[in-house]
Amino acid sequence: MELFSQAEPYRIKVVEPLKLTTKSQRADILRKAHYNIFNIPAEDVFVDLLTDSGTSAMSQYQWAGMMTGDESYAGCRNWFHLEEVVREITGYPYVLPTHQGRPAENILMMLHLQPGFSALGNMFFDTTHAHVVHKGGIPHDLVIDEGLDTTAEHPFKGNIDLEKLETFIRKEGREKVGLIHITVTCNNNGGQPVSMENLRGVRAIADKYGLPFYLDAARFAENAYFIKQREPGYENKSVKDIAREMFSYADGCTMSSKKDGLVNIGGFLALKDEQKYRQAQQLLILLEGFVTYGGMAGRDLEALAIGLQEVLDEPYLASRIRQVHLLGNMLLEAGVPALRPIGGHCVMLDMKRFLPHIPQEQYPAEAFTAELYLDSGTRGCGLGQLAFGCEDPQSGEIHYSPLEVVRLAIPRRVYTDNHIRHVAKSVIDLYERRQELKGMRLVWAPPGLRHFTAHLQPLD
Ligand SMILES: *Cc1c(COP(=O)(O)O)cnc(C)c1O
Repeated sequence: MELFSQAEPYRIKVVEPLKLTTKSQRADILRKAHYNIFNIPAEDVFVDLLTDSGTSAMSQYQWAGMMTGDESYAGCRNWFHLEEVVREITGYPYVLPTHQGRPAENILMMLHLQPGFSALGNMFFDTTHAHVVHKGGIPHDLVIDEGLDTTAEHPFKGNIDLEKLETFIRKEGREKVGLIHITVTCNNNGGQPVSMENLRGVRAIADKYGLPFYLDAARFAENAYFIKQREPGYENKSVKDIAREMFSYADGCTMSSKKDGLVNIGGFLALKDEQKYRQAQQLLILLEGFVTYGGMAGRDLEALAIGLQEVLDEPYLASRIRQVHLLGNMLLEAGVPALRPIGGHCVMLDMKRFLPHIPQEQYPAEAFTAELYLDSGTRGCGLGQLAFGCEDPQSGEIHYSPLEVVRLAIPRRVYTDNHIRHVAKSVIDLYERRQELKGMRLVWAPPGLRHFTAHLQPLD
């Protein structure tokens, strides 16, 4: 369909009021939160860009569908609806509902990994990575080199390096590889897409060595939209057909519906192989629930069945990606060091270039997220030294995180362009007075996953 406008293809029927706070109130809130934005009550946030996961606005059809939820233990009608929709979109005959993405990953990794086995992918999302390790497996990120270069322009920076993939399989031996798992779009480097050509290449290698190949389909529709925009030969295909072709090359997928499912909770595992499905069913009953609801209520199954169809609507996808790019382009035009090119669901800011005067052991990403909240009530997410690095208090030795970024993830169908402009203005203002920003000192932290609960204090 010819798009005659990039305006949102929906209007607003229900509003969720936002609280306006003063700067001095935000200063108090920050102090009480120990300068860690994870500790701030969401009601005190004006524009919440912490994550795009589970934060989507549902449509009138999804809310109406919720009322048709059938809460029977076995065989509820909403399950049959969801199963039919997933089969139609993916082409996979066997579908297992889960309460979000990670239980699907847990089951998939149990099916394919044993201690010492490798799992190969472009970049494993953190929960997927953790589930591989949990089964004794070893995850290997084999994304193309451009995918790790924050300034390289490439249309498909989520692609796996096919040469690295094949070399790895040859060197380690096929028997030591449990599976290939490709994330579309690639979340870790900012929602960068994977090309159809690349997926076809992975299929060829998987066939050559007899390896199973799955997709992590959390953002499959955004990936399909980028293929339509950027890959020759796909400009006249529907996003739905493109998605179906993407799925056709894999043996199945895991899905966190909290992203492109346009729902607040949900997920699934879908498979081509009947034997694997039978095994997965047993694990599903053990870990999640009966095979026709998994971890979800009947009403949630219905909302997901509808959301999966709405997410493939091209005017929706056009306005979604346009809004993410609106933020990214406003920042780039003002000279703000954002990672290029802008991806599908977020804008990432490079704190090494934004705040070069703050050393990594003074947590520049957290210094920025605190200041951004203070300035405009915006919540972003720091992904740097606090999350991935560590400092030994005894020896004083520091392990540096290779990345020091702040992610501004855009929820789907939630904010207007005015909210986006509000955020852009605040980031640009901070960039102009970046010399005034000071580092942070760690006051308290747990031994692992410390960025979620750490207490910080600004240095003066
Ligand atoms: C969110 C996410 C997951 C995990 O899903 P949950 O629903 O949070 O359990 C897995 N992979 C990717 C790419 C994700 O973005």
